[in-house]
Amino acid sequence: MEPRYRRILLKLSGEALMGERESGLDAGPVRRLAREIVQLRGIGVEVGLVIGGGNIIRGAQLASEGLDRVTGDHMGMLATVINALAMQDAIEHLGQPVRVMSALKVNQVCEDYIRRRAVRHLEKGRVVIFAAGLGNPFFTTDSAASLRAIEIDADLLIKATKVDGVYSADPFKDPAAEKIPYLTYDEALQRRLAVMDTTALVLCRDHNLPLRVMNVFEPGAIMRLVQGEDIGSLIDT
Ligand code: UDP
Repeated sequence: MEPRYRRILLKLSGEALMGERESGLDAGPVRRLAREIVQLRGIGVEVGLVIGGGNIIRGAQLASEGLDRVTGDHMGMLATVINALAMQDAIEHLGQPVRVMSALKVNQVCEDYIRRRAVRHLEKGRVVIFAAGLGNPFFTTDSAASLRAIEIDADLLIKATKVDGVYSADPFKDPAAEKIPYLTYDEALQRRLAVMDTTALVLCRDHNLPLRVMNVFEPGAIMRLVQGEDIGSLIDT
């Protein structure tokens, strides 16, 4: 089946890689997600990936425990590099060319992020994993995903996370929370819905980039979404 999108940016939260563990990496979910990504390439979709680091370190969490926030964020960004290297390895094992490009210079382990080279990799059919977020503290990997998606001219940003869409309240805490299948960026901002942080939402809104929020734990869902199925929630301008 023909894909609906030519080029996507897939944002995976770090938690998607930890399986049943409390933190860190589990080979099982890393391999499963790698397979799903390779399948997307199989139908011709160009794939950029941003992986969070929340399964290892979150800067704000460390700061609340007394560590300097900027140092914590540097550690968080390095955590995303660790996740990116794990995913690169799993994708490569499946025979799919892939490159990690980092916003922080760690160029003995991966490439530096250079936009034109990233686009070239995508055009050549390589999966590109954008690591180290934006390379600056006080941002999140959601903001990095929005910016990279805009920079590479992606048709769609997919936030694959632990909930299957946008809800009126936190579905893990409020049993009355309702799923909102479609909303605008302005609605998400005004209602302060926990879709992505404000910076990320504003970037997407101002550059007309549609966003899908979907459940990362549902096998095959990313493929179905890319083939045009109405999955999760759609946020648009
Ligand atoms: N981070 C940062 N700048 C960025 C992206 C990430 O400082 O541009 C740090 C921040 O400390 C964050 C951590 O990296 O808590 C991990 O990223 P995030 O929390 O977005 O991961 P996720 O929740 O998606 O797993």
